[in-house]
Amino acid sequence: MRVYECELCRDSGVIFNLEKNVGYVCSCQERKKLKRLLKSYNISDEFVHKNFGNFTLKGMDKRVVNAYMIAKEYSDGLVDRVKRGEGLRGAPWMGLLGTSGCGKTHLVTAAAYPLIELGVLPMFFNWVQSFTEWFAYYNKPEEAYKVDEIRQRIYNCDILIVDDICKESQKDTWIKEFYGIVDYRYRKQLPIIYTSEYFYQLVGFLSKATAGRLFEKTKNPETGKMYLAKMLLAENEDPLALDYRFRDIF
Ligand SMILES: [Zn+2]
Repeated sequence: MRVYECELCRDSGVIFNLEKNVGYVCSCQERKKLKRLLKSYNISDEFVHKNFGNFTLKGMDKRVVNAYMIAKEYSDGLVDRVKRGEGLRGAPWMGLLGTSGCGKTHLVTAAAYPLIELGVLPMFFNWVQSFTEWFAYYNKPEEAYKVDEIRQRIYNCDILIVDDICKESQKDTWIKEFYGIVDYRYRKQLPIIYTSEYFYQLVGFLSKATAGRLFEKTKNPETGKMYLAKMLLAENEDPLALDYRFRDIF
């Protein structure tokens, strides 16, 4: 027996009323449209599950608590802007720098989620995964046009989240493309939220121009507050000290 995603229309998208001899567009079509839209922004179900409410603060290192406070304040600021009808152009950027496992992705996801509820879609870009998928279109002649299509979306989306900058790979092509993204959004005053395991190393990986813009923009020009949180290990510190995955084990 075939299993349908939508039992109402059996995936045809249309419901027929035979008595009246008319057809209606099934309600699943709106849902599917929304799902496709969210997918094009790489917004997955994770977004629903990673919020401020379920981020554990109890017993956390003060660097992590500080990052939480920064992310929460930043998120509230964006929400206020949207509610005031100002939009996000001109908003400061936010950076969360920290060792693997300290909860960076959870916090940026939590910061962006309330925007989705207000109808502002953040575009989620994972350094390794998204660059790999994006540039794979270059190798398919009939789909190569998508490279520019995606680039335009990354350039112009209301808010861009770049997760794990420079993780695993610092390919020249990626670095160059990323410079274009950061420079464009810097000039257009379009905010970026980013995470990375690196801090000062980013200057070497990305160039002074790119890293400088990333750091500079985290400062709120009106208040002077910096939305740049560092959850970095000191030299000789236990490498698992900030890793929540090991918290209950040792
Ligand atoms: Zn249906």
